[in-house]
Amino acid sequence: MTITEYSNNSKPLKIAIIGAGLVGAVAGIALSKLSNVNVTIYERSEKPREVGAWIGLTESSLQVLRKLVDIDELQKILFRGDQDGGYVKRHWKTGEILAVNLSSTTTDRRLKQARTHRVPLHNFLFSYVPEGLIKYGYSANKVNVTKDGVDVIFEEKDPIHADLLVAADGIYSRTRRQFTGDTVQYKGAVAYRNVFPIELIKDIPSLPNDTSAWVKDGDIMFFSPLGLDQYGVVALVFDPEDVAKKFIWNENTGEWGREHLRKHFADWDPIIDKVLKVMPDITSFPLETAPWLKDLTVGNRLAFVGDAAHPTSGAFGAGAQFGFGDVWALYRSLQETVSNAYVDTGLPAEYDLHRALFLFNETRRHFLARVEKQLGYDADTYKRYISTARNDKEWRARFRQVESPLEWMRENNVEADFQRVVDEQGPFLRTIYID
Ligand SMILES: Cc1cc2nc3c(=O)[nH]c(=O)nc-3n(C[C@H](O)[C@H](O)[C@H](O)COP(=O)(O)OP(=O)(O)OC[C@H]3O[C@@H](n4cnc5c(N)ncnc54)[C@H](O)[C@@H]3O)c2cc1C
Repeated sequence: MTITEYSNNSKPLKIAIIGAGLVGAVAGIALSKLSNVNVTIYERSEKPREVGAWIGLTESSLQVLRKLVDIDELQKILFRGDQDGGYVKRHWKTGEILAVNLSSTTTDRRLKQARTHRVPLHNFLFSYVPEGLIKYGYSANKVNVTKDGVDVIFEEKDPIHADLLVAADGIYSRTRRQFTGDTVQYKGAVAYRNVFPIELIKDIPSLPNDTSAWVKDGDIMFFSPLGLDQYGVVALVFDPEDVAKKFIWNENTGEWGREHLRKHFADWDPIIDKVLKVMPDITSFPLETAPWLKDLTVGNRLAFVGDAAHPTSGAFGAGAQFGFGDVWALYRSLQETVSNAYVDTGLPAEYDLHRALFLFNETRRHFLARVEKQLGYDADTYKRYISTARNDKEWRARFRQVESPLEWMRENNVEADFQRVVDEQGPFLRTIYID
């Protein structure tokens, strides 16, 4: 395919996005900035969903958001605290600091990692999605990819046809499963999460004013103020499958869940129980996962982004980062392959989807494969090295020895990755044709 494929057709490129989660919303913002496109997001819920607990924004996610939203406005809903956004890892019993993962010193202060609450973040992003772009109550059932485009079949709605489909339908993505046939499986841990008014913990002495994680061989307790007078708790507990099966995603476990956590963390740093005691209740998220896509595209017509492509299930607290990165790569790939000659002359822009999806996939797949590998390395290190320490002194020494700040992941520069891929293609593929 060449850039002239659409030369007899000046109709806008019709882009359909399935899913209006964090990643679908950012896709709506970014892709509607392209020339001569017609973008629609199809979301299965009837209205914006007000769910979710805290969310960490890494440097990489903020790098992408800076290009799409007012980054100074965004600061109003972010929390960084005493460690300038750095993640503090603490000894499970003593609370002693074992490591702090700080943003690199050269990072613009507005792009240093931060924490926030998912609902205000989602609302903030929605305020940048052009009016009327999201159609609610559209549940995609099946997609048919042909050489002329993509047909999307919805439950109880008329089908639509698009030139390009972006699947942002999350971890349980029907679109992905249609192609891979995968099943989502329990990962072995439940995330218990809550956000509540910070007022409730204000009288607890010595509670750190930072984002802290108390760690012990897999189980982790995270505390953090979140901005907007909210406080967040996330507990990762290796509950057996029969416990996890009692819950569905995002279910309030009420008093039972709170007491379950109090019991589980009873011999940990005493400050943990002080917070659990005043916390009103807790919501459960049994963590599930599926194989990550090795190729994020189908037939030059379909691109997977976010959890639909890589069901991270909380890994590295960076699922949103990976999704925002996908979106930026897709946006830049489409922008790169639009016929600039047409843009310069004011004529409708035309796209080379074959090349765009190639650039998109090449920009993302190597990085994502490396992230997935890291999951395996980390699990192995915990199992075979840290948890086999013979005493606490050895445990601390081993923990500190292998602790990695994962800067290469958190601060991944998607724009730089994209440019590298484009430059690798050589100049002949970038020829501009002037009529
Ligand atoms: C415990 C936990 C902690 C986490 N912490 C962090 C963190 O700190 N930082 C971070 O970056 N990430 C974190 N994540 C990951 C992050 O939440 C996800 O990676 C991110 O929300 C994925 O966004 P998404 O838009 O791809 O998917 P989703 O948010 O799942 O959105 C998918 C959307 O698609 C819609 N949809 C689904 N199916 C259909 C259909 N058939 N038709 C139409 N619409 C459909 C859904 O209704 C939904 O609105 C965490 C995850 C977990 C579980």
